[in-house]
Amino acid sequence: MAADAIPQRTRLVPAMARGFIGHCPHCGQGRIFGRFLKVRPDCEVCGLELHHHRADDLPPYAVIFIVGHIVGYLILETENAYEVPLWVEMGVWPVVTLAMALALLQPVKGAVVGLQYALGMQGFATLPGARPVPGPEETRLAGAAAGIGDRDHP
Ligand SMILES: [Zn+2]
Repeated sequence: MAADAIPQRTRLVPAMARGFIGHCPHCGQGRIFGRFLKVRPDCEVCGLELHHHRADDLPPYAVIFIVGHIVGYLILETENAYEVPLWVEMGVWPVVTLAMALALLQPVKGAVVGLQYALGMQGFATLPGARPVPGPEETRLAGAAAGIGDRDHP
C-alpha cells in the first residue's frame, strides 16, 4: 500500500498510552524498556530509535505530583473517618507512598517517551530508523514471503 511507504506518527494519546504500558509508541508491539527504567536503544519490531529521548526529570516530577495528591487525599480521609494511632500512620503511609512511586515510575517514563515521540521532540522529529507499521494482513504476507514461521520447522 503506497500510503504506508512513509511512517505515520502515532497521535499523542495513543502514543502516551502505549508508552505507559511499556510498548513502543510507534508500532505498539515492541517493548521500550530493556530493564527497570532503562529505555532500549531502538524498537526491535519497527526499528524506531529510542535512545535520543530526553525524559530526564519529568517522570519523577510527575510521579511525585500524582502520588502526593492520592496519598495526601487518603491521609485526610483516614484522619476524618477513623482514629488511627499515629505510629500506625507513620508506618503505613511511607510504605504506600514508596510502593506507588516505584510502581508508577516506569509507566510514567514510558508515557513521557511517547509524549516526546508524538510531539516530534529531540531526535523524534524525523522518526529515525522507523519503518512503516504494517497492518495485520501485510504482516502475514510479509512473513510468508520472508519464510518467517518456517524457521522452526525446516
Ligand atoms: Zn516499534
